[in-house]
Amino acid sequence: MDYFKELSQLKATLVAVSKTKPESAIEDLYHKGQRIFGENRVTELVEKHKHLPKDIEWHFIGHLQSKKTKDIAPFVHMIESADSFKLLGIIDQEAAKNNRKINVLLQLKIAKEETKYGFEFDDLVKHLDVQKYPNLNFKGVMGMATFTEDTDQVRNEFKNLVLYNNEIKATHFKNDPGFNEISMGMSGDYKIAIEEGSTMIRIGSLLFGAR
Ligand SMILES: *Cc1c(COP(=O)(O)O)cnc(C)c1O
Repeated sequence: MDYFKELSQLKATLVAVSKTKPESAIEDLYHKGQRIFGENRVTELVEKHKHLPKDIEWHFIGHLQSKKTKDIAPFVHMIESADSFKLLGIIDQEAAKNNRKINVLLQLKIAKEETKYGFEFDDLVKHLDVQKYPNLNFKGVMGMATFTEDTDQVRNEFKNLVLYNNEIKATHFKNDPGFNEISMGMSGDYKIAIEEGSTMIRIGSLLFGAR
């Protein structure tokens, strides 16, 4: 089944998650018009960026280790998984060194699962000081729902992310029209995510097959 056409016509922006997949698979989709690809490992992303067309917009979507940030800072289009104040500071420094601004999404914990990564909403709202990061463009929020068959739970978690987004926007980005992305929804739950207001979906297995 070829889902690309359908997925690329949705109103949410499609991030094609190409992690673990060969460069040829990315090229195939590139030739169909896709330009935004997502990766979750620094080494793999650096290699793919080196070999593939330079107009690809690479989104980093996995947990980013501080010391590896410098490897993607020169070219990454967006880091969707900014998940700690420490990491925001490092990305800001690396952006400055490269004389560019880096787009980031604030990754929030919304799942019931004990996930290691992501801001707690309360902590983020209380302590985020946007002025501290002059080299970051804050573009919005990202979240991952619990991996479960319980669609009510998934829907509620997406609803929470939207509420969090609205509150963060009101408290920290009132005058910033650029803070407008809600990245939520993967192969198994993107339909619910879009119904709940997703502006950006991250799709891997539906496009590239199971990993
Ligand atoms: C792997 C991954 C995806 C894509 O998952 P699929 O279920 O294959 O669509 C989306 N977001 C993140 C953060 C991922 O790590």
